[in-house]
Amino acid sequence: MSDAAELVDRVRDGEIALHELEAHADADTAATARRRLVADDTGTTLGTVGEYAIDAADAEPNIENMIGTVQIPLGVAGPLPVAGERADSEKYLPLATTEGALVASVNRGCAVLRAADGANARVTKRAMTRAPVFRVTDIVEAEAVVEWVRDNRDALADAAEATTSHGELVDVTPYAVGDSVFLRFGYDTKDAMGMNMATIATGEACEVVESETSAELVALSGNLCTDKKPAAINAVEGRGRSVTADVRIPNDVVEEHLHATPEAIAELNTRKNLIGSAKAGSLGFNAHAANVVAAAFLATGQDAAQVVEGANAITTVEAREDELYASVSLASLEVGTVGGGTKLPTQSEGLSVLGLRGGGDPPGANADRLAEVIAAGALAGELSLLGALASRHLSSAHAELGR
Ligand code: NAP
Repeated sequence: MSDAAELVDRVRDGEIALHELEAHADADTAATARRRLVADDTGTTLGTVGEYAIDAADAEPNIENMIGTVQIPLGVAGPLPVAGERADSEKYLPLATTEGALVASVNRGCAVLRAADGANARVTKRAMTRAPVFRVTDIVEAEAVVEWVRDNRDALADAAEATTSHGELVDVTPYAVGDSVFLRFGYDTKDAMGMNMATIATGEACEVVESETSAELVALSGNLCTDKKPAAINAVEGRGRSVTADVRIPNDVVEEHLHATPEAIAELNTRKNLIGSAKAGSLGFNAHAANVVAAAFLATGQDAAQVVEGANAITTVEAREDELYASVSLASLEVGTVGGGTKLPTQSEGLSVLGLRGGGDPPGANADRLAEVIAAGALAGELSLLGALASRHLSSAHAELGR
């Protein structure tokens, strides 16, 4: 094994490539050598990037060409009271962000939820999707393939589920477009976010489709999935977990904590989150759900690019006789407590703050809980921001906290 200085020399001599260092040294030495090369070439020190507490070897499945880590401040909001399908909890919500005022805002929303005796939350759908695209000759052949898929769902489930001890095929929806056929496979991936799991399982199912029909696979992902891109199909049909959190807040709690009347908050929600979003052609009918989704994703090791889907949320608010009803429904929240970035030490500690590290009992329970908690956190964030806007306090709060 080489030390870092020797690795630097060998890269400079053209003997080995920058991405090959782990084959010649342990992960930490490789990252050190690569950081020195980048620092020298760019005239930077990268001293802070190189100061990390994790073992670089733990990050090997998660990163290539590692040179260090980026540190994002981590805060907590709460406690956040959530009555979920499987359990009630009142934990701190870890949030990693660089946006000043965000944690304070969610924290204020959590106080509203506590004063209202907590939020309810439910996962209403579980389906991580992968949609391969096949080539056929024409629409007549496309129809035959679609028919075959409808008649042979069990054969597809057998092939797909043979690749995983946790995943279950819950849906295959065919779409024909000219001489292309798309099959949108949906899986209950239990405690895994499930994108690798769904992709591997779908690959096996595609082999059955190809051997039993005239369809030829063009790509395992045909973009009708839809992963990491704004898409109405996710907002309508859901992806990952579809989850809703809601709360009934007594009128006096609204006025005491949010400094606005229930009617003012309800009107604001209608004009801003519903009418304004509709006029904008937005898929997100909410104030800033993505803020909580992004900060919770970073704190708990989720795939950050899937904040795109996490922003597909509708906030409703209704001023009733004695109370304000508020809800946030996230159509496509893609979360897991096993796999991906959840294993990294700091992210794993983030999950531990919620008591949701690793697989649940029964499998899927922890990821359901995580979805419920993030939805309740998003609800807290919506209430706080709506209150700030309704009371015209938003710019002064940002000036005090964020600048
Ligand atoms: P993964 O780390 O690839 O796999 C997680 C595995 O954990 C499961 O396949 C399962 O094995 C096992 N497992 C153990 N206990 C479990 C439990 N209680 N519930 C569910 N599974 C359990 O993770 P993934 O969630 O499938 O995929 C996430 C990763 O995919 C992230 O790193 C993300 O960045 C990446 N990603 C991939 C794609 C792609 O197209 N491939 C796209 C976007 C993101 P068994 O299946 O054997 O049961």
